[in-house]
Amino acid sequence: MKITAKTKIVGILGHPVSHSFSPIMHNAAFESLGLDYRYFAFDVAPEMLRRAVEGLRALQLAGVNVTVPYKEKVIRYLDQLSPDARLIGAVNTIQHREGQLIGHNTDGLGFILAFQETFGLSVEGKRALLLGAGGAARAVAMQLVSQGVSEVIIANRTYARARRLVKAILENFPGVTALAIRLQSESLAKICTRADILINATTNGWMSDSHQAMAPTAFRPSMMVCDLTYHPPATPFLKMASHAGCKTMNGVGMLLHQGALAFRIWSGQEAPLSVMRAALEQAIQQLH
Ligand code: NAP
Repeated sequence: MKITAKTKIVGILGHPVSHSFSPIMHNAAFESLGLDYRYFAFDVAPEMLRRAVEGLRALQLAGVNVTVPYKEKVIRYLDQLSPDARLIGAVNTIQHREGQLIGHNTDGLGFILAFQETFGLSVEGKRALLLGAGGAARAVAMQLVSQGVSEVIIANRTYARARRLVKAILENFPGVTALAIRLQSESLAKICTRADILINATTNGWMSDSHQAMAPTAFRPSMMVCDLTYHPPATPFLKMASHAGCKTMNGVGMLLHQGALAFRIWSGQEAPLSVMRAALEQAIQQLH
């Protein structure tokens, strides 16, 4: 496909972004549907964020994804937020529509769609234990609760951050059962006995000898275990879970579905999931 004067531009803003798989995934999708779009990675220095967002407007980009460390900081430069972005307090997708910059968050729903696809089940009525209280954990927790989990427990190394997330959940969903705990093996081992879904949303590899909060005996075979990381595909956390007989899911599906939702926001078309998945899996494979 040729780049012409009519080609629409989308991309990703972050710092760094050179590791991102999104350009490969989205460009494969645009090409397969013959859509005249191109997706680029923009490494934006912190002091340039405001100007980069103004640039989206000035140069009439169709939209962008936003990644670490700007998902929260970018909000102040936008005109509107979707209900999900407002609830989560972070934006991973900006849509440029009729001169307005609209912030969306597709991370949480991306996780839910990946979960349903992998396990063939809805999260409704399940009890979820989430390790981590950062941006990804917040997106997943809010979406789990809005999809009807009966209980959500947030375990985090920094306990105050877990409590802040639980407070935000309870403010938005007063009827739900939500609890904050410390990320320590004793508390986790106890609480694991009542979890149906266990999700690692920390950046910790769980292999470092210094911090292995999750004892192998804490995994129960009936649990559905997820790791939001996708590299390596079989993370140490998921290996432990598989070894204990649990069904597992890594972060590839979430990456795929959050991207597919963003694709639909920008182009108005259903994303070609199989093309995007193949492009992603090939790119991840090539890292090994
Ligand atoms: P973040 O906002 O920086 O949060 C990091 C989280 O990890 C915090 O809860 C932090 O705890 C915890 N943590 C960091 N080092 C730790 C350690 N040594 N031991 C225990 N906990 C530790 O990051 P994020 O944006 O939420 O991302 C979290 C993970 O999700 C990353 O691996 C990211 O790649 C992945 N992710 C995947 C997708 C996808 O599409 N698959 C999308 C978004 C994110 P403290 O609060 O104590 O610092």
